[in-house]
Amino acid sequence: MPQENEHVKCLIIGSGPAGYTAAIYAARADLKPVLYTGIVPGGQLTQTTEVENFPGYPDGVQGPQMMEDFRKQAERFGTDIRFGYVTSVNFSEDVHKVVIDGEHAITADTVIIATGATAKWLGLESEQKYNGFGVSACAVCDGFFFRGQDVAIVGAGDTAAEEATYLAKLANKVHMLVRRDEFRASKAMQHRVLNTPNIEIHYNTETKEIVGDGQNLTGVLIYNNQTLAERVLPVTGFFVAIGHKPNTELFQGILDMDINGYLITQPDSTRTNIEGVFACGDVQDHIYRQAVTAAGTGCMAALEAERYLAAKEYSMM
Ligand SMILES: Cc1cc2nc3c(=O)[nH]c(=O)nc-3n(C[C@H](O)[C@H](O)[C@H](O)COP(=O)(O)OP(=O)(O)OC[C@H]3O[C@@H](n4cnc5c(N)ncnc54)[C@H](O)[C@@H]3O)c2cc1C
Repeated sequence: MPQENEHVKCLIIGSGPAGYTAAIYAARADLKPVLYTGIVPGGQLTQTTEVENFPGYPDGVQGPQMMEDFRKQAERFGTDIRFGYVTSVNFSEDVHKVVIDGEHAITADTVIIATGATAKWLGLESEQKYNGFGVSACAVCDGFFFRGQDVAIVGAGDTAAEEATYLAKLANKVHMLVRRDEFRASKAMQHRVLNTPNIEIHYNTETKEIVGDGQNLTGVLIYNNQTLAERVLPVTGFFVAIGHKPNTELFQGILDMDINGYLITQPDSTRTNIEGVFACGDVQDHIYRQAVTAAGTGCMAALEAERYLAAKEYSMM
């Protein structure tokens, strides 16, 4: 529980792979970290089923179970894990101020931001119903489950084009659903898609419904937005690649971010433009977006926070 006028050495915002890994390292370095989970304790992986690509789980693991393991490991070394949502921050002074649930403030020498990103969905009820049972927002994570099968992917940007070509190596056939009569992807990426024989592009095409047997996805009901003609594509996998939104509203005008809102960190580092404030995981990574890379940068953030504090203490001696 927060105390009045509480001050901590290290405050971690977020409880995905990045936040929990930062907590493990910070706790073992005796920074006595306090971690706020946000409204999704465990982060994005709690919304998926099987995770097969995180090292150390030779038989795979359910996403929620894996995050439970992360939490236990962070707690084992004394991380103070609290349910709470950071509603505002003030990084204008030497000691950083963070407000939780709009109610109480904590000050911290170092802050590690691990608030992640949220995949954008089409917003169909059936899409959420079959999420993890044929519907996915991550081709690299879930493409392997659809080897030799027919799948569909929605999107027209660079990420969608890259994910479509990735899927094409695994799947029998990839139907690419493009809303307009052209791609948004760069010419180079378009070229790759157009030259991949097992990708069929459906222009002017939108998704009306995900079709399934109550358990698993069996197809997608699509329509042509010009002719309004409908048909069901028989696919077993449906990938949504219409983008991600980094959870950075809190830091607008305070921390440097790119045009899409991803936090900018210094090269080979998790340092932000504010001393003592570090960012790790998907909130600063729009390229890899994997649990293992999030965990890797979580480790970096904690090590950098520890070194920052050590240098500060040394300079005050
Ligand atoms: C459906 C799906 C399946 C996936 N499958 C795989 C897979 O098989 N393998 C793989 O490697 N990757 C997979 N990924 C990607 C992986 O989940 C992410 O790369 C990873 O979770 C990013 O970790 P993170 O810690 O940066 O952020 P997240 O996991 O997004 O966690 C962010 C955390 O920040 C918290 N938070 C946000 N805002 C606040 C706030 N204001 N205050 C306090 N807390 C806040 C949230 O509650 C959450 O706990 C998948 C993603 C999805 C969506």
